[in-house]
Amino acid sequence: MNKVCMIYTGGTIGMKKEEQGYVPKKGFLAEQLSLMPELNYPEVPKFDLIEYDPLLDSSNIRYEHWMRIAEDVHRLYDDYTGFVILHGTDTMAYTASALSFMLRDLCKPIVLTGSQIPFGVIRTDARDNIISSLMIAGEARVPEVCVFFGNKLFRGNRSMKMSSDEKGAFESPNYPELAESGVQIRYFDKNIAPPGRELIYTPVGEQKIAVLKIIPGISYEIFNAIIDNGLDALVIEGFGAGNIPNLNGELVTLLSKVEDTQTPIIICTQCIRGSTLLGEYETSAQLKSINAICAFDMTTEATIAKLYYLLSKGYRGEKLKLRMETNLAGELTR
Ligand code: ASP
Repeated sequence: MNKVCMIYTGGTIGMKKEEQGYVPKKGFLAEQLSLMPELNYPEVPKFDLIEYDPLLDSSNIRYEHWMRIAEDVHRLYDDYTGFVILHGTDTMAYTASALSFMLRDLCKPIVLTGSQIPFGVIRTDARDNIISSLMIAGEARVPEVCVFFGNKLFRGNRSMKMSSDEKGAFESPNYPELAESGVQIRYFDKNIAPPGRELIYTPVGEQKIAVLKIIPGISYEIFNAIIDNGLDALVIEGFGAGNIPNLNGELVTLLSKVEDTQTPIIICTQCIRGSTLLGEYETSAQLKSINAICAFDMTTEATIAKLYYLLSKGYRGEKLKLRMETNLAGELTR
């Protein structure tokens, strides 16, 4: 008999409105689940619920919380057919990306889901998201960390939160969907990774990572302070294929400072679709010449999670660059 482990970490799905706004409420999700007769249908796998304490709005999630989830999945891995992680939508794509690196070689599904409208509010999307996620986790046809939202299943490290109010809040712009839940759940096998052999769990530690979003007329000076502050990595979100303005040599000064401190620089694109390609335009040539790391078509979320993973494993310099630019867990097309 298939059995799923469901972990509730917090997020809108189990929130109630208080004076200061929506907050996750202890015991509320379990109470709402007990009011769902659908969960007793034979098609829906049985599940155990683990509720974290404290429950978090996902804006408050940090690497320690990724660790807690990964450790729990690792510890309980043999006891369940699959896992459903209920999580706030705001940083779900970061957590899904982080888990995809921390839990490698999966042969069971880890499905992250949540809702845009809390349980107990009319027109909530919590019910559908939970039932479909439980069924996907119980059917065990997707040995990946994935995100289920708005009837679609996405690869976790390719997913992005695209809308703050639509029920279809997520997309994976650079990778096709893994499954779709219509009348039936339809799996797109050719998009799904093959199962791994044995789960490899890697913990991550604190890393000081900053993201610099390039804007027209940016003044690089203001970033001097951040760079002086012992950064472990600097992610730059450039325009288009990774282009950045070189204002009267300001950029060169900034970059040479970064180079002196051996801080890795990773170039992502602000575009939702497509890939970074350094050296295509003169405006990215300098980045290439200082050996900046190219994120190709990785999302910024996956880039940050991958940095946590690789820096925690001790990779630096050329070794870090090589791994960042290599596909490790389905996060990058090359
Ligand atoms: N702020 C909430 C969270 O991320 C939003 C949500 O769950 O939809 O926890």
